[in-house]
Amino acid sequence: MGRSAMPVRDAQDLRRTIIQCRHCPRLVEYRENVKPRASFARERYWRKPVPGFGDLNGRLLVIGLAPATSGGMRTGRIFTGDLSSTFLVTALHSAGFANQSRSVSISDGLVYTDCYLTAAVKCAPPGDKPTPTEFANCAHYLDEEISLMVNLESVLALGSFAFKAYLGHLSRRGMAVRGLKFAHGEVYRFPEAPTLYASYHPSPRNTNTGKLTRAMLAGVLASIKRDFPK
Ligand code: SF4
Repeated sequence: MGRSAMPVRDAQDLRRTIIQCRHCPRLVEYRENVKPRASFARERYWRKPVPGFGDLNGRLLVIGLAPATSGGMRTGRIFTGDLSSTFLVTALHSAGFANQSRSVSISDGLVYTDCYLTAAVKCAPPGDKPTPTEFANCAHYLDEEISLMVNLESVLALGSFAFKAYLGHLSRRGMAVRGLKFAHGEVYRFPEAPTLYASYHPSPRNTNTGKLTRAMLAGVLASIKRDFPK
């Protein structure tokens, strides 16, 4: 279902290209110079763009905003090493998409099945706020990741930025997406594209305040699994 175009390059080539990207001067400056958090002061930060991770043959694509400064940008793997990751990966494990709930480092043994995770913007932005230009600069990498997911059935957008990023992808495919609004639990079905599910982002700001609970995220993942073609 999800193939939008022939892949431009294979997964390894795309990964290499993303990791070497220096297209956004502000984000390059930030990632190379940001001061490590005190609790990670002895660690060597990744400080490069963070490509997606998981099962590119999977039916589910999960999109976040960007790697966290002390999470993905520290460890080198998306949704790894911070509180958002723990919340999300615990839910994915419970839903059967991950072999464990622990996501702390690239050597922790985490394996996703039927599921691939990525971010709309591959570099951590200051204050979690990419500029519109940075957002646009990175969009073609998302397009290429999606083109590699030949079995894609469902896309889970975590937060309004990820939702907007996927609408941008659909728009570049020539689809009409005006008027589609982000709301937690919203589901949009398209005749020629994977179904889009929306959830609040599992950031501590949302999970600590109860805006996103474990039950809410589990409910979205259960809907996704229920809707997979039998
Ligand atoms: S945000 Fe994307 S386009 Fe910009 S430098 Fe990072 S990888 Fe490259």
